[in-house]
Amino acid sequence: AVRVRFAPSPTGYLHIGGARTALYDWLLARKTGGQFILRIEDTDRNRLVADAVQDIKESLRWLGLDWDEGPDAGGDAGPYFQSERLAIYQKYATQLVQAGKAYYCFCTPERLEEMRKKQEEAGQPSGYDRHCRELPAEEVERKLAAGDKYVIRFKVPLTGQTKVRDELRGEMVFDHQTLDDFVILKSDGFPTYHLASVVDDHLMGITHVIRGEEWIVSLPRHFLLYAAFGWNPPVFIHLPIFLAPDGKGKLSKRHGATGVREFREKGYLPEALVNFLLLLGWHPPTDQELFTLDQAVEAFSVDRLNTSPVNFSLDKLDWYNGIYIRKLSHEELAKRALPFLQKDGLLPDPCPPEQFAYLVRLMPLVQERIKLLSEISNAVGYFLREEIDPPAPELLVGKKGTAGEIADILGKVGAVLNQIDDFSEENLERVLRALAEELQLKPGQIFMPVRVAVTGQTATPGLFELLAALGKKKVLQRLWQAVT
Ligand code: GLU
Repeated sequence: AVRVRFAPSPTGYLHIGGARTALYDWLLARKTGGQFILRIEDTDRNRLVADAVQDIKESLRWLGLDWDEGPDAGGDAGPYFQSERLAIYQKYATQLVQAGKAYYCFCTPERLEEMRKKQEEAGQPSGYDRHCRELPAEEVERKLAAGDKYVIRFKVPLTGQTKVRDELRGEMVFDHQTLDDFVILKSDGFPTYHLASVVDDHLMGITHVIRGEEWIVSLPRHFLLYAAFGWNPPVFIHLPIFLAPDGKGKLSKRHGATGVREFREKGYLPEALVNFLLLLGWHPPTDQELFTLDQAVEAFSVDRLNTSPVNFSLDKLDWYNGIYIRKLSHEELAKRALPFLQKDGLLPDPCPPEQFAYLVRLMPLVQERIKLLSEISNAVGYFLREEIDPPAPELLVGKKGTAGEIADILGKVGAVLNQIDDFSEENLERVLRALAEELQLKPGQIFMPVRVAVTGQTATPGLFELLAALGKKKVLQRLWQAVT
């Protein structure tokens, strides 16, 4: 059975690139009926970010990418935090030492620093000079017994080559001479990424490793480790990097949001983000552009992954988001919008049912008008607020008349609306058109000032649906406020 893992390091919140990797992992597992495993690679103790694991789990769940084994899910191949597997790595590192494929290195940081300096001065390539590679066994014993600090290094063959294979790129050959004897176990007893990754992928029965292109340089070390242990390597697939929206260089923080959480807070829907990420590195067999997760599972195959770098285009993401917002039911859109409104203090938390029902009623008025959920407060704020600030005179008066004329018109509108109880769209339209005729005004000369008076804005949904949704009390209050 196919087993794939997503193996983030909790050194930061889930990055958009990591989310894409996780998506492809998940799709491959779901497509094949295999398992998707979440493994936390927390061996770099200096770079841990306290709530990163929490963020990674929440972000994956938000995207709809559930894992079969890992934190919270459990599983037979655990523990799934590498920091809880130290004894395992120590055992395998020692095993390589005993087999003569790795060795204890007692070089002090000072010695290594000096070595580096000399290499630099001499213009030599940097890398460990193998000082401890051939220490006599008795000396090693003596140092270990004395409690000297050590790391364990892998013995890279001095000559020859290692052939590696990436499923998308084919075979690549690395000269052993370009590799130094890399550390597999650090002096604090923690493994390095290379050892932990290979041991875990093997013990967890991983069949396919999907990860970012930046890990290709690690591939020869991983293949050397697999060979040294006598294990078969999994299938490796390295995904192309994201280029900045302008196509110049790698995507980075300075191009805006790069964390899944940030996209969520900006009001992107997970459906849109997933669809967008799906097509950033994978191309479908048809020209279909919209995919639900289920449809993506159906269509996905590893051989349609791309190797060329991809432009991270926010325009495209925004386009998807608008589409998915319009696909939601009014009820669902209200549900998704609610946290944004609560954050802006426009609705209480928890939200009482009547207020939520009113929010649902507003959704058809704004669904076509917003691209991001975060725009919701601006779009429905004037419905939810008891009062609005008096509109700016220049907005209210516009070019259509003097302040006095506008106040006069609004006063008459107020008087007419005060008379009616049927605040349906149809009735409002009938009454206001009749008033325009009576006053011998063009409808726009009435409609625009009314719109501004009751919303404070010039761009709003249609006037009659707007007035109907606002209700008589607020409409009259605001008309009154605008003329006094
Ligand atoms: N912990 C590594 C990372 O943060 C995992 C790389 C891999 O998938 O092997 O990306």
